[in-house]
Amino acid sequence: MERLQKVMAHAGVDSRRKCETLITQGRVKVNGKVVTELGVQVNSNDRIEVDNIPIDREEPVYFLLNKPRNMITAVSDDKGRPVVTDLFMGIEQRIYPVGRLDYDTTGALILTNDGELSQLLMHPKHEIEKVYVAKVKGVVLKKTLRLLEKGIVIEGRKTAPAKTKLLSVNAEKGTSIVQITLHEGRNRQVKKMFEAVGHPVQKLTREVYGNLTIAGLASGEWRELKHFEIQQLK
Ligand code: URA
Repeated sequence: MERLQKVMAHAGVDSRRKCETLITQGRVKVNGKVVTELGVQVNSNDRIEVDNIPIDREEPVYFLLNKPRNMITAVSDDKGRPVVTDLFMGIEQRIYPVGRLDYDTTGALILTNDGELSQLLMHPKHEIEKVYVAKVKGVVLKKTLRLLEKGIVIEGRKTAPAKTKLLSVNAEKGTSIVQITLHEGRNRQVKKMFEAVGHPVQKLTREVYGNLTIAGLASGEWRELKHFEIQQLK
């Protein structure tokens, strides 16, 4: 048995708090009867409706994918381009990616049908650590790394403190490989940060997402998360 609002949040209805409001507003039915109290427990056979629409109660599933290049982080694409869920053909649950990696970015991406975990991970307050490795144009100087670490203004807002490490420099080709660790997830953030300091990104991989790394997963390969890994993410 589980609390009604927890089951609703898991099914992706809304946050637990907002589900509590839906309950107290009398918009939720369990087995056809309106429930307005918050202590109600339900089991897997109970039929739950919100505004008379049954909620979807699939078993939650969690995957870590090493996303390949040239694939859209979405469940469908109106231009018919390949999407990450194409790699999960045998999986019957309706999973979707948590956050996004660009079309040409590779690396760690979580897919799940757990709406509550997805909301939690995407919330700016959650500040999950993400480690990226970027191949950038030009020879990156230490003082440039310090700028990125302290925070630079992109789109009118300063980025949060970051960690960086210069992994290698190819002076002949005029490129550098830099590891950068962020706790934010602004849109195309890594590319914009390097662009802003004059080093456009040529290749980008997310190697680590929180407690999860793509080590051992070939491009396009995925694995199920272990119970303890899901707990650690929360
Ligand atoms: N930052 C980017 O610029 N692109 C990504 O795909 C992820 C982070």
